[in-house]
Amino acid sequence: MGLTGLAGLPPSEFDHKHVLHPYDNPISSGNTFLVKYAEGVHLHLDDGIKLIDAMSSWWSVIHGYNHPKMNAAIKEQVDEFSHVMFGGLTHEPAVDLVRQLLELKAGDFSKVFLADSGSIAVEVAMKMAQQYQYSIGNETKSKFLTIRSGYHGDTWRTMSVCDPDTGMHHLFKGSLPVEYFVNQPPIAFDDEWIDDESLNGVGELRATLEQEQDKVAAVILEPVVQGAGGMYFYHPEYLNQCRALCDEYGALLIFDEIATGFGRTGELFSADFCDIDADIVCLGKALTGGYLTLAATLTTDKVAEGIASREPGVLMHGPTFMGNPLACAAANASLQLLGSQDWRSKVLNIESQLRAELQVALELPNVTKVRALGGIGVIEMKHVVSANQAHSLCKHLGVWLRPFGKCIYTMPPYIINRQQLTKVTHAMIELAERL
Ligand SMILES: *Cc1c(COP(=O)(O)O)cnc(C)c1O
Repeated sequence: MGLTGLAGLPPSEFDHKHVLHPYDNPISSGNTFLVKYAEGVHLHLDDGIKLIDAMSSWWSVIHGYNHPKMNAAIKEQVDEFSHVMFGGLTHEPAVDLVRQLLELKAGDFSKVFLADSGSIAVEVAMKMAQQYQYSIGNETKSKFLTIRSGYHGDTWRTMSVCDPDTGMHHLFKGSLPVEYFVNQPPIAFDDEWIDDESLNGVGELRATLEQEQDKVAAVILEPVVQGAGGMYFYHPEYLNQCRALCDEYGALLIFDEIATGFGRTGELFSADFCDIDADIVCLGKALTGGYLTLAATLTTDKVAEGIASREPGVLMHGPTFMGNPLACAAANASLQLLGSQDWRSKVLNIESQLRAELQVALELPNVTKVRALGGIGVIEMKHVVSANQAHSLCKHLGVWLRPFGKCIYTMPPYIINRQQLTKVTHAMIELAERL
């Protein structure tokens, strides 16, 4: 049929018929709002309605939309060049970014791979781990161990370490690599650590690592905050103990900080809640302030030297748009903006306001839990909430919210003010009442 007869359709109708959206039904797609303009914390829709973006466009737009410094940095780079291949060529935006990242990230990190999305950064981390083990003579160590309810991306190998029940395992059974899972760390962030391995989850982790030590290349997890797998915050001591077990059984440790990086939890990285760090760290989402797609995989000399020590001696990955200069320029501007302000006070103020204002939701019959950490606020319901139903209430609420699973949550831009955040918490509570 081609485009004949379709050219005249208004954008929303055309979208509904032909544009696929995330996790969308390809025949009958969900409703979408048409965004015409965005500034600060607001999305302006084509019908003149403006919504506070309580999602920060999937947790990335930390400085808000249309920030003059972000725009200027990208425009300046456009006038130099927008892209060059990264094989055999380099450029200052990438070099500056790697310098900034290594300065920000304490510890032994010394090598950075600039990927084009979070999922790819995780793929690269997993490849690094497996290549490292292969290179140092542990050819059988090619599997991964993770905790349940995790989320690490939508590409093939990252799917294999997403939660086996809520993830896509059953659908792709047979063609997806089978990895090792242990239960979600049972002790929550706000609870007291219990020094008993049968109660704090470490026993199960130890037993699995011990039994599968010949196969496990690395333990991969989201430190402290599990995002898309259920917005659960667990005790950082679990990670200290996990580090010790990885060392004992010769597994690398990968922290997926794609959701938690750059201050979202009230710490710059969630590893900062711990006494230890990982061998490989993935960063993404807020890296560019949500302006362009970019992610990074950081590792240490130890891993790099391992990989280089055996044929082929190179890390086997290289996306076409690796280290894209526009994205690097956006990331550099975003990190400078973050560094030039007291982001921690802002995020901690958001946390205390979320804790105070969401508390009343506990009185609602369908709410089981309410929690907040840094710039993350969650109302957990007894039942799964329909994103589409929430969607249909957003214009009335004046707030853009997109719940998933049982969680009605917000991760607002750090620039949100008190009144705006109150509007968000009221909207979340109203959703909890009505859905
Ligand atoms: C979003 C996310 C990813 C995937 O990043 P994309 O840029 O969407 O590919 C991976 N891990 C975690 C923890 C995430 O939150």
